[in-house]
Amino acid sequence: MNAGAYGGEMKDIVRSVTAFSPGIGKIVVLSAEECDFGYRHSIFEDNGYIILSAVMELTPDDKDVIKAKMDDLIDRRKSKQPLNYPSAGSTFKRYPGRYTGQMIEEAGLKGYTVGGAAVSEKHAGFVINKGGATADDVLKLVDHIKKVIKEREGIEIECEIRVID
Ligand SMILES: Cc1cc2nc3c(=O)[nH]c(=O)nc-3n(C[C@H](O)[C@H](O)[C@H](O)COP(=O)(O)OP(=O)(O)OC[C@H]3O[C@@H](n4cnc5c(N)ncnc54)[C@H](O)[C@@H]3O)c2cc1C
Repeated sequence: MNAGAYGGEMKDIVRSVTAFSPGIGKIVVLSAEECDFGYRHSIFEDNGYIILSAVMELTPDDKDVIKAKMDDLIDRRKSKQPLNYPSAGSTFKRYPGRYTGQMIEEAGLKGYTVGGAAVSEKHAGFVINKGGATADDVLKLVDHIKKVIKEREGIEIECEIRVID
């Protein structure tokens, strides 16, 4: 799904992907272009291919510089994300030009709870499991957030998490 954070995405480094196509029963190699990477999207969400390996190209740099950058990104993640609770990560996609977490916070929904599911107090873009949350709790909370944002901002926010029936 072309994961990304802090200005980087997998698409920046992936050069090719080797995958098995169940449809034709063959192993195929896709160029980065053929992977059709977009915001939180790749062709593998649509084609059912099973990824076997990928070629990635990294940028050489001084070991200490790379380590400092990695530590900084890990620290930023730890300080801003509710990593002490189970979650599926960022619940909603970014709306063009807007931070969804900020909209949810401005709507006063931080801490809003349905059953065991809650909008994180630390980062409003995360729905967390505070204990015993069911899928139903999470989906009801997600619907409530969408409804409130639609009423306040007039826009429909989309889930980043994928719901599989
Ligand atoms: C706390 C937290 C923070 C997160 N922060 C970010 C973030 O900052 N940015 C971001 O982009 N995402 C973020 N995520 C989301 C994360 O990137 C996605 O959940 C990611 O897809 C998880 O991959 P996985 O392999 O762990 O999960 P899986 O559930 O194993 O896989 C995810 C999807 O890929 C498919 N899949 C798995 N293996 C293959 C394969 N070999 N071939 C084809 N399809 C396959 C699965 O069917 C599934 O649909 C976060 C998640 C959490 C829990």
